[in-house]
Amino acid sequence: MTAIVVLLELEPATEVVDADVGETDIGARVRAVHAAAADAEAPGAPLPRTLCGLDTDELEPEAYVPAGPGAPWYPPEYRSRHCLDCEEALRGA
Ligand SMILES: [Zn+2]
Repeated sequence: MTAIVVLLELEPATEVVDADVGETDIGARVRAVHAAAADAEAPGAPLPRTLCGLDTDELEPEAYVPAGPGAPWYPPEYRSRHCLDCEEALRGA
């Protein structure tokens, strides 16, 4: 499988960011999990677009690496929110 970078699409931060402590719970704000191909020139960085065509600048990189062959490409805790278009693209690759 080609190297991918997992990216989180978050809800707007207005409600959940605490002014004193900053970001408290990113997990509660995840709207969707996307994947982008890794930039060969910049290890760990995604290409400008996700596999489903979103701008990766708007998304939050997630340091998740699949545990092994057959493991899901998205973090298991976000199973219900992974992007089906990205999954389709990954399966077809
Ligand atoms: Zn996607």
